[in-house]
Amino acid sequence: MTIASTNPATGETFKTFSADSESMIEEKLRKAATAARQWRKTSFTERSQRMSRVAALLEQRKDALGRLMTLEMGKLKKAAVGEIEKCAAGCRYYAENAERHLAPEVVQTDARRSEKRFQPIGPVLAVMPWNFPYWQVFRFAAPALMAGNVGLLKHASNVPQCALAIEEIFRDAGYPEGCFQTLLVGSDKVKRIVEDPRVAAATLTGSDAAGRSLASIAGGVVKKTVLELGGSDPFLVLPSCDLDKAVQVAVAARVQNAGQSCIAAKRFIVHEKIAAEFEKRFVERTRSLRVGDPQDEQTELGPLASRQVLEDVEKQVRSAREQGAQLACGGHRLDRPGFFFEPTVLLNAKGTRVWEEEVFGPVAAVARARDLDEAIALANDTPFGLGSAAFTQDAKEIERLTEELDAGQVFINGMVKSDPRLPFGGVKASGYGRELSQDGIREFVNIKTVWIG
Ligand code: NAP
Repeated sequence: MTIASTNPATGETFKTFSADSESMIEEKLRKAATAARQWRKTSFTERSQRMSRVAALLEQRKDALGRLMTLEMGKLKKAAVGEIEKCAAGCRYYAENAERHLAPEVVQTDARRSEKRFQPIGPVLAVMPWNFPYWQVFRFAAPALMAGNVGLLKHASNVPQCALAIEEIFRDAGYPEGCFQTLLVGSDKVKRIVEDPRVAAATLTGSDAAGRSLASIAGGVVKKTVLELGGSDPFLVLPSCDLDKAVQVAVAARVQNAGQSCIAAKRFIVHEKIAAEFEKRFVERTRSLRVGDPQDEQTELGPLASRQVLEDVEKQVRSAREQGAQLACGGHRLDRPGFFFEPTVLLNAKGTRVWEEEVFGPVAAVARARDLDEAIALANDTPFGLGSAAFTQDAKEIERLTEELDAGQVFINGMVKSDPRLPFGGVKASGYGRELSQDGIREFVNIKTVWIG
């Protein structure tokens, strides 16, 4: 894959990059190993000062960083700036809480003293996707560096300028050389890097195919991995809900980031008592979305990130229609330069390709359920298990949904989102391990048992 910046709003490639040579990769790994030996000895106070500086730089540069993101992957301008602000908040969260999350824990045993210590493990490789090109990286980097590890970033090949801008922020924040480095490499180099003895562990956010590949490589050399993979999140709408709110959140949850979010709601499961009304309003609202230039403040739906994503979505919609799903609105690419796809709703979509696979675009798949049992069964009938959402006011239903939905997170009467204070991750083919919160910072540490007799 070529490493290049292509504007999804025009389809034009405006900058290309040469991949790092073998000697450059070697030099970066050497620097990471050297930095890791020093950085692990730093105090939480020092780490916290640096991470707070990163947060301040993100705030200062948010407009320029946001512009770059819009140019490279097509995110709406306002959402792009919002993403940078979220990164700053994530960095501040770990600057303020890492020491508490990693404080030694005394455990009563037969020893004079026994405790758990949480120690750094060294350089961690992060293989990252383009859809949230800053947030995905900072939610890895902030806890990793606060824990005393160092970071190596292999970003998606279509966001090289975002990747380099992140490296620059860490440099400008005063991190010692080698603490955070970007490797400009294709996915063919991941094996070589993971297998390098200087790399301690790896994390990948991306498709389940990429996750499987990384996990098998890391398994071969017995290195820990965290995988944040795809999702086909269910969104349940039940009779007692506030229907206005459910419709409004359903549309927003599907088309956020032009539908290219792992936790976007993808399968809408609606109780048959309210299905006709929900479908009518959902289609009306989806159809009314303003599609256009992501730099324009009025735009509600921008382009897809690449020609490949556009073609994949187009094929999935075509197959679903052939399989019997009913097209209620949209369904086609726009006749203009760039990678635009109409906001689309497919009714009666159960069992079709858009129901069975993750759709990374503004395409909602809707199906009806007879009752709560059937709704939960449909929600869980997927290889994925990332997020899930349900709209209901009924306390018994809320308890059942909380217990029975097979997912890393359950949101009731709200849209699935990440928050530094709460763990984030999936089950089943959506991956394993957690990011964010105390759980996230404890993934890449040596939990050392200390026993003193
Ligand atoms: P992708 O094609 O899997 O790429 C993600 C990263 O993995 C890129 O850096 C890519 O490099 C690399 N990669 C691809 N194939 C690889 C392989 N065989 N071995 C090692 N590395 C490999 O995914 P994407 O299209 O960028 O992102 C969309 C996917 O990410 C969706 O499935 C989405 O749900 C998922 N996602 C999950 C989360 C989560 O938190 N669970 C968050 C965001 C996105 P190249 O670009 O060089 O190919």
